[in-house]
Amino acid sequence: MPSLYERDLRSLSRLSQLRFFPQAVVGGNGSYLTSDDERRLLDFSASWGAASLGHAHPAVRDAVSRALADQAGASHLSSANLPAVELAEKLLSIVPRRAAGRVWLGHSGSDANETVARVVVAATGRPRILAFKGAYHGGTTGSMAVSGHPVQQGVPKAPGLTLIPYPNPYRDGGTEEAANTALAELESLLAGPVPPNEVAALFLEPIQSDGGMVVPPEDYFRRIEAICRRHGILIVSDEVKVGLGRSGRLNAFEHLGIEPDIVVFGKGLGGGLPISAAVGPEAIMNHSPAFSFQTVHGNPVCAAAALAVLGTIEREDLAGNAAEVGRHLMQELERLKQKHALVGDIRGRGLAIGVELVTDRASKNPAKQETAFTAYRAFELGLVLYYVGVSSNVLEFTPPLTLTKEEASAGVALLDQALTDVASGKIDQAALSNFAGW
Ligand code: PMP
Repeated sequence: MPSLYERDLRSLSRLSQLRFFPQAVVGGNGSYLTSDDERRLLDFSASWGAASLGHAHPAVRDAVSRALADQAGASHLSSANLPAVELAEKLLSIVPRRAAGRVWLGHSGSDANETVARVVVAATGRPRILAFKGAYHGGTTGSMAVSGHPVQQGVPKAPGLTLIPYPNPYRDGGTEEAANTALAELESLLAGPVPPNEVAALFLEPIQSDGGMVVPPEDYFRRIEAICRRHGILIVSDEVKVGLGRSGRLNAFEHLGIEPDIVVFGKGLGGGLPISAAVGPEAIMNHSPAFSFQTVHGNPVCAAAALAVLGTIEREDLAGNAAEVGRHLMQELERLKQKHALVGDIRGRGLAIGVELVTDRASKNPAKQETAFTAYRAFELGLVLYYVGVSSNVLEFTPPLTLTKEEASAGVALLDQALTDVASGKIDQAALSNFAGW
């Protein structure tokens, strides 16, 4: 009898697989998944942050069964439905006033960013978009077209796209120098080949997550905001991965001290169900009817799940929990840094944390292979942890927002063991050949 993982390989397309180890799960509850060989796996990814309340959260479960018990259709394209309207009203109440115009609902961060990228150009008549090198805004043609992540090298970019550097304090000489260098490059672009009055919008991630969980220097985005305001450039905050409580605040842009014009939500919004949202000024978001829609956009079941997620985050102060447990997790990880030479840098906000592995701390050469080994070994030990980064050497922590300190400590103990095993060569290198990651 083939295993679940083998059946997956024989039946499901590799086009959408991003595999780090042979994980096959049959269930899950809270911060734990159950594997098909009946192991309990502590989930420090939460399906890349999508399972924001953990697995099988009662609030999501109840909301979904209620919405399905008396189903108000499947779409809001040609009919209003209550959960979609209530969700929109709720989202309008949590964004800055300048963004609180209208809400567009989609399925994924990708379709939301693609829609925003199209509509800002159409509505402003300005053909250009600024985004960051290393940024990941999605996997559809239009969202890849405004992304700068190397995994999408060779994919056509939007004709008006200019990629600018995202300041990386660890690699670019510290916070001040990183900010100044990145800003100087932007200013020279705007003074030359990229006339600012042709730029519709600037897309930013409050923490550049798939690019390596890079936390921008304090003040950097305030300086960017000033430039954008001067030239009427719209600021789009892509909160898909680190928004809605994960950073320790409800909106991750709050850490930057800025007020974006458009806010994009995804992943954790649905607590595991597919739903995304773009929230922005009416003049942009009402540009024209039938501009960007797919049949089950505004699905009442997914919208009901999202409402339950937002209600739970608020009621249980999960942003506060993310801040507190995140602080604890960072402290525990700092201990690992004392112990393991592979650990070059630990950074993050709340429960959005990256651990960058380097071959040695002086050269900071990315320890790409060791990162893959560590994730693989951690899985064998019972911890689910993937990696990100433009050099694939940053372990990414996006656990459920409900994570407890005890669970955080238990996960760090497993990672500690995994790093020890990698350092002592206790790794089946051949087993990894099928797991290229990214
Ligand atoms: N934006 C950001 C910041 C992301 O991290 C991602 C996914 N990693 C996306 C957009 C795309 O989201 P999805 O894959 O759910 O479409």
